Amino acid sequence: MTALAKLDVAALRKDFPILGRPVRGRPLVYLDNAATTQKPQCVLDAILDYYRNDNANIHRGVHELSERATEAYEGARERLRRFLNAAHAREIIFVRGATEGINLVAQSWGRLAVGPGDEIILSHLEHHSNIVPWQMLRDQRGAVLRVIPVLDNGELDLAAYERMLGPRTKIVAITHVSNALGTITPVRRIIQLARDWGAAVLVDGAQAAAHLPIDVRALDCDFYVLSGHKVYGPTGIGVLYGKQERLEAMPPYQGGGDMIESVSFERTTFNTLPYKFEAGTPHIAGAIGLRAAVDYLEQVGLEPVAAHEHELLDYATQALGQVPGLRILGTAREKAAVISFTLNGVHPHDVGTILDQQGIAVRTGHHCAQPVMERFGVAATTRASFALYNTREEIDALVAGLDKVRRIFER
Ligand code: PLP
Repeated sequence: MTALAKLDVAALRKDFPILGRPVRGRPLVYLDNAATTQKPQCVLDAILDYYRNDNANIHRGVHELSERATEAYEGARERLRRFLNAAHAREIIFVRGATEGINLVAQSWGRLAVGPGDEIILSHLEHHSNIVPWQMLRDQRGAVLRVIPVLDNGELDLAAYERMLGPRTKIVAITHVSNALGTITPVRRIIQLARDWGAAVLVDGAQAAAHLPIDVRALDCDFYVLSGHKVYGPTGIGVLYGKQERLEAMPPYQGGGDMIESVSFERTTFNTLPYKFEAGTPHIAGAIGLRAAVDYLEQVGLEPVAAHEHELLDYATQALGQVPGLRILGTAREKAAVISFTLNGVHPHDVGTILDQQGIAVRTGHHCAQPVMERFGVAATTRASFALYNTREEIDALVAGLDKVRRIFER
């Protein structure tokens, strides 16, 4: 990391009011960023400012507030287009989050394109949100699910993937970053290989967007989903990017509100992109908050953020590696700032509870990724995940907290 790229973390922490709040009487050590990130003041301000000054429903109004709200909402769409480097703002569909984006593709594109005997390829790393929608589609359409195996270090078995592809492959739905292990998957290569068979590719970017620059055109993916709350934005808002020609060919996912052009009892005609997929009043304040979040993230700089998080990951891997009885799951060469681990003889829920008493927030459980837990022979892990505002001192606090856990269980 160059001196220039180094983040001023102490200054950045001041942007996040919640980080100054004590928890259980201790300074908060927030290491649950893969579940959701904290929000900077500018995101809170943007949401409040919208409700205070511009609140109105969008698109249908001729009055000033409605025009301002529409402009802010559509401005957010254009901002997200730039964030993902999509070709057109009409390729950016606002959804509730990654989960809704995947369900939309599975039900709209999938029911049209996937028939009996067709194959859907997933990986063993996937979050339940990128498994269950495809299982539902499989059951509706008589399709077949195929699963790319995971190697012992948490990387995907690409050779097995290559063998799995074939003329029946209709879609490959793959995570960009594993929430359970932190593995960064080789999505470029996965997409190139899928192209040889004419298969579509959906990338689940829920865990990637806060950590890696995303360029959907360079990736050449058909669909990319992200959740606002994992990129320092609000909950209840996310983005589905879809290539225009794919989205044009897809039927609406939900009916009502903004997605219509005209309605009679005999027949409804549908609006154009992106509105065709945005039924009902959308999360206007959410889109505005998400815009503020990506402004913030890009202003800080994704590259220095990635470098900082990588440094934390190396430091934490080293420090946790010294803790007796601690086993880290997932040691892929390309990893985002997520560390999943088990501690000999202590259930992860006990680890999490004792850490919480010290003001340290981590996640424990199966992380909505039961198949990968099973692959590594565990029911649950403790997971520490880092963001741009985390520090080495917080990792030291985690290690000290784990010492306390061990002392309690050794008694
Ligand atoms: N995909 C991955 C890899 C995730 O980590 C998550 C959330 O943890 C999701 C999808 C679902 O995101 P959301 O609950 O915001 O829809």
